[in-house]
Amino acid sequence: STFGEIDLGECLNNNIKRCRYVKPTPVQRHAIPIAMAGRDLMACAQTGSGKTAAFCFPIISGVLAKCVERSQSNGDGWTAFPRALILSPTRELASQIFEEAEKFAYQSGAKVAVVYGGAPMGQQLRDLERGVDILVATPGRLVDMIERSRVSLKMIKYLALDEADRMLDMGFEPQIRKIVQRMDMPPPGARQTLLFSATFPHEIQRLAADFLKNYIFLTV
Ligand code: AMP
Repeated sequence: STFGEIDLGECLNNNIKRCRYVKPTPVQRHAIPIAMAGRDLMACAQTGSGKTAAFCFPIISGVLAKCVERSQSNGDGWTAFPRALILSPTRELASQIFEEAEKFAYQSGAKVAVVYGGAPMGQQLRDLERGVDILVATPGRLVDMIERSRVSLKMIKYLALDEADRMLDMGFEPQIRKIVQRMDMPPPGARQTLLFSATFPHEIQRLAADFLKNYIFLTV
């Protein structure tokens, strides 16, 4: 099978060709159609499986399908209203996801930005101020940005949790729960959630039960 058989839209299909992705990896072959059908998904995926594209492609495609106001000014300057959020445990992983998402959102009009801890706020704030549709973030820095009213999650339609088990191992569960509480897009079921993890301990299953609705569990 090829990517051509999955209808991701012309722009994304061109970028996939340009990046010379020809054959979807197993997790991509199964996860992308499920996500494109609008279903929530919990997927078992290791590093190197191609999981980044498995959640980035449907998210980019979905964001492109609807154009929405990106940023609104308020009394205190500005607030970014991303439509998609990708949470990642570390800044290295967040940077890799950002690079991959940018490559595939090329010339699409969708703006991608990344925020992570352990780096100055200045450049990240300037990137957010320019507008962001797809935000890649580590949990702690994102909570900080939310508390400074620089990011609002009220417009989030797509949420991806990458390496969810690692995020919990690193103690990010309170931050993740706080973040998801800030997403209150009505009506029920309006948000689509994609959870990727290498392992499925009780804590991950509880997270899935709390955040995902009627989800498909994929192991490849
Ligand atoms: P990931 O597991 O998402 O970190 O991806 C591992 C590596 O495989 C990255 O360098 C990707 O750019 C590359 N990759 C992912 N999917 C494909 C594909 N379908 N064809 C070729 N390379 C890919």
